[in-house]
Order: sequence, then structure tokens, then C-alpha cells
Amino acid sequence: MREITSSEFEMEVLEGGKVVLDFYSTECPPCEALAPKFEGLAGLYGNDVKFLKIFRQQNRELAEKLGVSSSPTLLFFDQGKQLSESLSGGIKRRDIIEKLDAMLPESKVKAIKEKIKPEISDFDVLILGAGPGGLTAGLYLCQSKINTVLIDIALPGGQVSTTHEVSNYPGFIEPQRGFMLSHNMSEQTKLCGTSYKVAVDVSSVDLEKKEIVLDEFETVRAKRIIVATGTSPNLCGIPGEKEYKGKGISYCATCDAKYYENKEVIVIGGGNSAVEEADFISKFASKITMVHQFAEFTANKQAVEKLLANPKITPMFMHEPRSIMKADGKMHVEVENLQTKERSTLVSDGIFIFIGMKPNIDLFRNKLELDKWGYIKTNEDMQTSLPGIYAVGDVISKKYRQITTAVADGTIAAIAIAKELN
Ligand SMILES: Cc1cc2nc3c(=O)[nH]c(=O)nc-3n(C[C@H](O)[C@H](O)[C@H](O)COP(=O)(O)OP(=O)(O)OC[C@H]3O[C@@H](n4cnc5c(N)ncnc54)[C@H](O)[C@@H]3O)c2cc1C
Repeated sequence: MREITSSEFEMEVLEGGKVVLDFYSTECPPCEALAPKFEGLAGLYGNDVKFLKIFRQQNRELAEKLGVSSSPTLLFFDQGKQLSESLSGGIKRRDIIEKLDAMLPESKVKAIKEKIKPEISDFDVLILGAGPGGLTAGLYLCQSKINTVLIDIALPGGQVSTTHEVSNYPGFIEPQRGFMLSHNMSEQTKLCGTSYKVAVDVSSVDLEKKEIVLDEFETVRAKRIIVATGTSPNLCGIPGEKEYKGKGISYCATCDAKYYENKEVIVIGGGNSAVEEADFISKFASKITMVHQFAEFTANKQAVEKLLANPKITPMFMHEPRSIMKADGKMHVEVENLQTKERSTLVSDGIFIFIGMKPNIDLFRNKLELDKWGYIKTNEDMQTSLPGIYAVGDVISKKYRQITTAVADGTIAAIAIAKELN
């Protein structure tokens, strides 16, 4: 693997046969996450594909000419021709392999795959999930001199990194950009010496053996495992939802309602969380339209009575959202009347969706004791029903899911484990 500049582009890339070119930047966490994977793959595919790196900040003109607008970006070339699809952002090893394999004959790919040697590494503690809960546990364990690895399918930071502003995390006078808060948490833990394996594919999790397989060939073993995989909001699954997440669509009232002072919002949902969160949002917003698929709210009676007496709330029963778009700074939701099938458009300043959250436990659902909503049950030391397996943060059974509570859980699990292992 070699680093080039723009002046070498023609010779090294356009006349270089099969090439993969990495446009990287400094102070770029996804670039840092990619570097070891790129180097590892260069070792495997390097005889057949040329692996090159180029520093984007110092080669801007070339980057722009090639349509590179984010770091890192991997471009693939074959005999001087740029292959159509590039990769960028939190690039997975599996995705690079797919592109490289497509550039080579089948027999070559088979020979390369035969060279892959399974790797095994051992740690004292393995933390699955690098959100605030996992990062805090990593920090405390590292400061106790316990050999710890943090594993995440994405980059470190968890849900906080996608949150616009956080104003309720203690220690900061001004609201913090979620990205910076999670970046600082991650850097603090990394600088301490915790190992990171991020933007990986978690191929399998064996909690009984305490073994996790990454990218199908790397086994990571540990004496203790902390599950810190958080939750994902249930999505409506309608056009526009993914596009405007965090840009007009929110899934957290505690976090975002304050940005809608005297504004109009739409709340989608009508169960307990939608009803309670709408009540909270009404402290700020001037008008709330609640789109709910049934003929009445399905939350507890007392909360529903309170909501219906609230003059700011307009229920829209027997309706479902069909699509979302943004125009002139306003959010437009197309809704369908489930009785008449008629469609109409609601316009507002923001949309809150509360149709439930789901814990991220797909890889080990049947191994741990769960509550009736599918969250992991723990004791006061954050131990799960399986010996040596701990769980922290939003993925566990508890009443309030916030950064501070995830951080507290991570602290408790780490101290409990440190006591056990020492
Ligand atoms: C839009 C939004 C705004 C919010 N704003 C605030 C706020 O202002 N203040 C506040 O206190 N709270 C806020 N919250 C809640 C807060 O973000 C969570 O309570 C907190 O992030 C929980 O931390 P966690 O570490 O448990 O999980 P998460 O932050 O969810 O992190 C879990 C991590 O696990 C990883 N992961 C998932 N599955 C796997 C797997 N199989 N293998 C490996 N890794 C995996 C994920 O990639 C992620 O990085 C907000 C939440 C959202 C969605």
C-alpha cells in the first residue's frame, strides 16, 4: 500500500491496472476506522489490486474532479476506467470485499479466500456497543487496567452522535452538539487505551462461550461481556422518513420538544409513549396534531383524559401517515383516512414519531432473560441472567432511557466487573 499525490494520479491510477484509491482526511473518525481494514485487505488482495491512499485536504482539486465529497471515499478503477459505485462514510470490510471480488476472476477470488487465516484475540472484557453506556464502561475498565475491547457495528458514539443538540448532559453550560459530545466520550476512552473494533460486521455472538465472530473470520473472546447495544426506534417505513430523520423528524421529545416553542408539530402514534410525550411537547408547541391509526388513544385512561382536555391537541383518529417531505422549511405529511381511503396533507414545523422502540438484541434474543417488552433484565450490578454477561444502557429493562442513565449503568457494570476480575 502506498500514498500518492495528484501529480501521480495518471501514472499510478489511470495506468495502474486494477486500483482501489482511498481519499482520507485527518481528524476523521471513519477514516481511522477504515485504515486497519484497508491495510489488512491490501495484505490479502495486494498482488492483484493496487491499494493506494491520497490525502484529500491536500489534493482537493482532484477529489472534486472525481466527485469525492466526503471522507473516507474509496474509488475503484480498472484499466483507467472508474468503476461506477464508490464507498464512503462508515465503510464495512464486507462491502470492500464485495467490490474487490467483482473486479477479479472467480479462480483468483477463490485462491485469495483460501489465504484468509482465522484470527483469535483474547480480552478480559468485551463491550458490544460503543454508545454512552459502552464507552463509559470502557473508560472505567481501562482506568482499572483491565484489558478491554469495544466492538460496534457502526462508528463509536451511539444515538448521541446523531442528536442535534444535547442540553441536559451535566458539566456543560451551553448545549453541546451531539456529535461532539459522543466524539469526546469516545476519544477519552480511546486515549486511556481501550481497544476499538468499530464499523465491523458482527457475524455471530455466543454468550455462553463468550465469543464473538467479526467479519466472518475474526474471533474475539473475553472473560466478561457487556451488552450495550441500545435501541432503535420503530420506523413508520414510509417514503421521506429516513431522509428527514434528525432534520425535521424526531423520535425523542425530552430531547427536541424545546426546539418547537410556539410552533406547530405533528405527533404520529397514540399509545402510552405518544400520549405522554405529546403532553410534554405541549409545554412548548402551540398546536399538536396527533395522527393515530385507531378510533381512540390506546394509552392509560388517566393520561388520555388529560390529553383530550388539552386545548393544544387535535386528534386525528383512524388515519395513517403515507409519506413525508420538506418544502420551504415546513414538514408535509401525507395522511390517509383509513375509513374513506381519502388522502390529505398536513403541514407543520416538525414531526415526532412514537410508535415504540425496539431493543437491539437480535443476535442473542433467546439467551438472556427479557422483560415482557423484550428488554434485558439485570440486577443492581447490571448482571444478566447468564453468568459473566452484563448489560447496560437503553437495551436493559428500566423506566428512563437517557444518556445520564446509560452512563450510570456503564459505570456500575465496570466497577462490578473490576472488583470481580481483580
Ligand atoms: C434523536 C435522539 C435524541 C436524543 N437526545 C437525548 C438528549 O438530548 N439527552 C439524553 O439524555 N438522551 C437523549 N437521547 C437518548 C440517548 O441517546 C440514549 O439514552 C443513549 O444514547 C443510550 O446509550 P446506550 O449506550 O445505551 O445506547 P446507544 O446510544 O443506542 O448505543 C448503542 C450502540 O450499540 C451499537 N450496536 C447496535 N447493535 C449492535 C450489535 N449487534 N453489535 C455491536 N454494536 C451494536 C450501535 O451502533 C450503537 O453505537 C436521544 C435519543 C435519540 C434517538
